[in-house]
Amino acid sequence: MLDAGRHPNIELLAYCEVQGVEGKGKDFTVHYLKKARYVKEGVCTACGDCAAKCPIKVDDEFEMGLKKRKAIYIYFPQGIPGMYTIDPEHCPMILKGKCGLCAQICQAGAIDYQQKDEEKTLHVGAIIVATGLTQFDPSVVTEYGYGRIKNIITGLEYERLINASGPTGGHLYRPSDGKLAKKVAYIQCVGSRSLKHNDYCSSVCCMYAIKDAMLAREHDEEAESYIFYSDFRVMGKRYQQYRLRGAEDYGINYIRGRVAEVTEDAEGNPILWYEDTQTRQVKSLTVDMVVLCSAAVPSKGIEQLAEILGIELTPNRFVKTDPFHPTDTTAPGIFVCGFCQSPKDITESVSQASGAASRAAELLGITSSDKRTVA
Ligand code: SF4
Ligand code: SF4
Repeated sequence: MLDAGRHPNIELLAYCEVQGVEGKGKDFTVHYLKKARYVKEGVCTACGDCAAKCPIKVDDEFEMGLKKRKAIYIYFPQGIPGMYTIDPEHCPMILKGKCGLCAQICQAGAIDYQQKDEEKTLHVGAIIVATGLTQFDPSVVTEYGYGRIKNIITGLEYERLINASGPTGGHLYRPSDGKLAKKVAYIQCVGSRSLKHNDYCSSVCCMYAIKDAMLAREHDEEAESYIFYSDFRVMGKRYQQYRLRGAEDYGINYIRGRVAEVTEDAEGNPILWYEDTQTRQVKSLTVDMVVLCSAAVPSKGIEQLAEILGIELTPNRFVKTDPFHPTDTTAPGIFVCGFCQSPKDITESVSQASGAASRAAELLGITSSDKRTVA
């Protein structure tokens, strides 16, 4: 991100939304909305003084709602560009002209309550779609109790809890009573590989569940981990060795079987009911906390963007590509990379991004001294 932020040939248009695209082939005009931040770019130093005094607290989206943020905020500390933004849906100054505290506090004079959204256009030679993924809502899989049983969380919530800069400073405090979770179960394929929800494999959950369980043991040597899986899909370079290391060095228990249901006991401990398909026995396991490895799905808004760009999607809402050119969409001059094309991990996304950039450069005959642009 830092490299992209300071590269002389890359202009980042953050906090902008594509509204329309005209043209085709090597000549596109992109209409986009540059949304008002109510903070001046290039003036804000990201000191955070305004947020420290802002009286409005709302759920922090980056922290998965496990922590509050202020109405003037930065999405996450390492975000590029490093500057604050006023949330117009929650700031009383923007909504009804009341407050104004941040303007009094900001020594840099960066606050501008009069800022308006701006409609802009950009001429480009090629477009690359890289809109990524979002998490499938696991509350739809009602038998797993997400949203009903407090000590059942998602993989993304776990990522924030186990993170040293997260809401609990890296401690696995469980939501119901703040007790340290020592015995944790991870359920794979929640909403993935299911004809009821998403019929594809999300491709990343096996590896991140193993990593999560390793992190639990690194934080607490008494941590016990149980990963319930259908079959391990660890096909990357040395991924299988990583899985074996999880059992040998971190004591992870791998249990082959889909969990049928999760209930809870009087103390709020989740109880998993499952068939161990290796012993053909129906069993139960009581744990302190359950982590649901929810399916990954294409980001919200992909249908709208596809309509604007005139590209086709597959039935699972991934961007459709040419079978022999896996970064070419159905519209000439528009390419794709990353999870929005098909499920894949970071390594594969980075490789495909290079491929998409090369295809765009090839189309435009770009050399390193060329000034033509790709959006
Ligand atoms: Fe600091 Fe002002 Fe930016 Fe707030 S708006 S982070 S006070 S420079
Ligand atoms: Fe917070 Fe809005 Fe008041 Fe600024 S004007 S301190 S963002 S509530």
